[in-house]
Amino acid sequence: MHDVAIAGGGIVGLATARALAMRGRTVVVLEREDRLGAHQTTHNSGVIHAGLYYAPGSLKARLCVEGAAALYAYCRDKGIAAERCGKLVVAVRDADIERLDELERRARANGVQDLARLGPGDITAIEPAARGLAALHSPNTGMVDFGAVAAAYADDVREHGGEIRSGAAVRALVERDDHVEVVGTGVRARHAVACAGAWSDRLALASGARPDVRIVPFRGAYLRLTRPDLVRGQIYPVPDPALPFLGVHLSRTIGGEVLVGPTALMAPARDAYRLATFRRADLGATLRWPGTARLMRRWWRTGLTELAHAASRRLLVREAARFVPAIGPADVRPGPAGIRAQALARDGTLVDDFVLARTGRAVHVLNAPSPAATASLAIAELIASEVA
Ligand SMILES: Cc1cc2nc3c(=O)[nH]c(=O)nc-3n(C[C@H](O)[C@H](O)[C@H](O)COP(=O)(O)OP(=O)(O)OC[C@H]3O[C@@H](n4cnc5c(N)ncnc54)[C@H](O)[C@@H]3O)c2cc1C
Repeated sequence: MHDVAIAGGGIVGLATARALAMRGRTVVVLEREDRLGAHQTTHNSGVIHAGLYYAPGSLKARLCVEGAAALYAYCRDKGIAAERCGKLVVAVRDADIERLDELERRARANGVQDLARLGPGDITAIEPAARGLAALHSPNTGMVDFGAVAAAYADDVREHGGEIRSGAAVRALVERDDHVEVVGTGVRARHAVACAGAWSDRLALASGARPDVRIVPFRGAYLRLTRPDLVRGQIYPVPDPALPFLGVHLSRTIGGEVLVGPTALMAPARDAYRLATFRRADLGATLRWPGTARLMRRWWRTGLTELAHAASRRLLVREAARFVPAIGPADVRPGPAGIRAQALARDGTLVDDFVLARTGRAVHVLNAPSPAATASLAIAELIASEVA
């Protein structure tokens, strides 16, 4: 019998397995796909967030700041390319200024290092193509390939005697008196941790937990900029504080590309990497959840805008051109897409913070959207101490 079974071989599951294996626990990671990190871990902006956005005192705020520092140190030790390319959050309208003030207050409360407030002239010194009324500059925001990080975590797990199985779908975690039966895999373990990303609510329900949230998949599509020289690092708009999404941004990747996006469109499948992918069970689960109708009633205007961004490359480019006016529709080509596993509460609120739920012998990660890849090492420490 293993000490701990971990369902889900994404960056959070692998980081958790690593933390436990390094504490001397015998672990097994069970991943349904035939490769690790197949979902959010390899379909994201690749940004190492510094912790600007999150409500002071929240798990996101604490674990992002701690996790980013740990991640830079980890990448240095392992020889994984990671670069502090810096980030600008640019205010382009008067209405953005108050929100930028609030963002600055949050960032300072969260302990984000070396933050600077910039005026219009200073913006071009950092990003020559960017324009705006004011900006926040975070020099410690960076970029990395989270797939490479997850692969290194997996190597650490194996080095510390852990086992990793792919093609192993967990149907449920059934708690017995002295162990957890990992249904569908033949594994038994003293404890279990579920890190199932977009399927986390489903696994929790199948395991007898009663989560009061459901995962609603939000598709995030990107374009690729054909003039990457226009962007040095990360350039973001000032986000709407009522939503957990950061807005259409320009992201330099560690591979040298610049991505424009992502969109944020509610998707009819939890793996809707192609716009046309539709799964009746996923859509049914989304529509049956009372929070969905409440979310739609409140955010229908935003939903229509997102639909327009998804349908029209020109409109998506226009969003980015608000802060980098030199970008036009001819400067992009189609890019990748990712699916955010975002928890939605019964009352229609998009759950902002990370959510972990404990049943007797199991911990379920029920909400680990951005910046969970950045925060993965810190999330793993939290879960490992919870399991202990
Ligand atoms: C468009 C987009 C942009 C993002 N940008 C950033 C960013 O710039 N910076 C950042 O820090 N974060 C970013 N994120 C968020 C980040 O990618 C996620 O928070 C992180 O990858 C979550 O990792 P995870 O391991 O929880 O989920 P995943 O990587 O989705 O892994 C979950 C795994 O569980 C497996 N699984 C599910 N059910 C089962 C089962 N029953 N049995 C076995 N296995 C199962 C799945 O196959 C999957 O491999 C972004 C996300 C998206 C979608």
